[in-house]
Amino acid sequence: MNAEIIAVGSELLLGQIANTNAQFLSKQMADLGINVYFHTVVGDNALRLRRAIEIAQTRANLIIFTGGLGPTKDDLTKETIADVLQRKLVIDEEALQSIRAYFARTKRTMTENNVKQALVLEEAEILRNDYGMAPGMVLTIDEITYMLLPGPPKEMEPMFLNYGRPLLIRKLGRHERIESRVLRFFGIGESQLETEIEDLIERQTNPTIAPLAGDGEVTLRLTAKHHSAFEAEKMLDEIEKTILERVGDYFYGYNEDTIFSKTMEQLISQNVTIASAESLTGGLFAQQLTSIPGASQTVKGSVVCYTNEIKERLLRVSKEILDRDGAVSESCAKALAENVRTLFQTDIGISFTGVAGPSLQEGKPVGTVYIGIAASSSPTEVFSLSLAGSREAIRMRTAKYGCYYLLKRLETK
Ligand code: ATP
Repeated sequence: MNAEIIAVGSELLLGQIANTNAQFLSKQMADLGINVYFHTVVGDNALRLRRAIEIAQTRANLIIFTGGLGPTKDDLTKETIADVLQRKLVIDEEALQSIRAYFARTKRTMTENNVKQALVLEEAEILRNDYGMAPGMVLTIDEITYMLLPGPPKEMEPMFLNYGRPLLIRKLGRHERIESRVLRFFGIGESQLETEIEDLIERQTNPTIAPLAGDGEVTLRLTAKHHSAFEAEKMLDEIEKTILERVGDYFYGYNEDTIFSKTMEQLISQNVTIASAESLTGGLFAQQLTSIPGASQTVKGSVVCYTNEIKERLLRVSKEILDRDGAVSESCAKALAENVRTLFQTDIGISFTGVAGPSLQEGKPVGTVYIGIAASSSPTEVFSLSLAGSREAIRMRTAKYGCYYLLKRLETK
């Protein structure tokens, strides 16, 4: 099955909003093993929408629309599709009742144009809208399936997941189970990871392997199809094993895991406490960890030691180090990690110092970062990095690298 996603809305073309609906739906399609070859965005204009539909009909057999199902004049998706397909629009009684009930519940007056929201393409299967008024619908004509979904993501996403997706699976005539699993990697670039598993990606059929990079991390989504869920899981286990034999050093977790949640899990399970001294990250590391419930079992606190004065006065970095090597240095990172550990009386002290940019600091280039890790059990380690990206990206990557080194250390304990 080949899909095209048509997002309707002039605000998308004006750059007022990003087309996150297409992103969401494409991910869903990848999960279902449906190819998406085109994303189209078209304004609220009947003629141009008609043209977009006619083009899509030549190259897709699943056309998914989002937006333009509302009550106002510029919401014309249904009307235009009805026109192109020569189908009538009829009132869906159930949808009309729920619109009436909504107005009664909210004590608002229902206007005539709200009735328009209950209009559906004749003979279409209806997708209930549990979070809004306009129902979605699915209709197959001449072997092309049309799926109409509302624009607001908070209505569209649950509608697709709860009603659209099961219907598609049924329509695909699949009795197979589709199981997927996301493997998460840190500390390896997308191209390096892809090179390491190039042959697996090239001969992928079932399971499929879909790499995705973002925020300094790389993920691989593995998707397997089989009529037995157990067998599909087994297929995923096998491909995962092969992948991890090659790039397991960079693997940290599955699905919704984050590098912060995995670090927290490890710290708690090993019963160790931690404190951080944060210069360029300005507390970001502690903020990320403490946003996870249960943090108080392991995180004792953090010092945002942004200025040299605080590094010297509160964290007792010697003047000699600051004058000789500077704040962005291995020796400063080492002293910060050791001294914050002493100050907070924790098992581990971690420090972050570096240049987030946009300009040089102490003559050191943007992206120069030192991360120190001090522990009672072994000598202090300092890791040096040269990171690229914006100020925010460098700060976030630094905090994540802190977790990455901590995880490595905790694993070998
Ligand atoms: P409504 O009943 O709210 O009018 P609708 O189905 O007519 O729903 P639109 O009017 O096209 O949808 O869009 C409503 C809102 O939904 C937009 O203002 C925007 O915030 C969001 N939206 C629409 N399309 C997209 C999209 N492709 N990606 C992300 N958000 C979108």
